[in-house]
Amino acid sequence: MNITFRKNINEFEKKWLEQSILAAQDYLKKLYDNPNFENLDYIFSKTYSRSRYFRNEVADGKYKTPTCCIAIRNIIYLYPKESLKLKRYYITGVNTNIAVMCSLIHELTHHIQYNEKRTCSELETTKNEVEYLKAYHPYYYNSLLF
Ligand SMILES: [Zn+2]
Repeated sequence: MNITFRKNINEFEKKWLEQSILAAQDYLKKLYDNPNFENLDYIFSKTYSRSRYFRNEVADGKYKTPTCCIAIRNIIYLYPKESLKLKRYYITGVNTNIAVMCSLIHELTHHIQYNEKRTCSELETTKNEVEYLKAYHPYYYNSLLF
């Protein structure tokens, strides 16, 4: 596991970002049977416009190791999946560490989907984020309902 921190991320932030990786993995270990997070790199940046999961299956390609690119920001954007029955699909002014947790849960869910050779589903990734908010940050979850 390699973690890359882009510029303007201080030592304190690096510590909580490292802890967030473990917390997101722990959360998903409760939902999935023995997910494998070993072969995975992370890049954190304050200038990414969005987070994404990157996987290059070409042997000599760059980013040969699957990579979670995580945007550090205070906004949560969710995919507007109607079956989730939410009134809103974004929250602004969120604690940055909570927004990062949602992004990590989302991108790590894509990693699980790939490892299990399942189709990429944005319903599953979004549902995991929403369930996390419901369980641990009900204030933000409730803000999605009105
Ligand atoms: Zn996604």
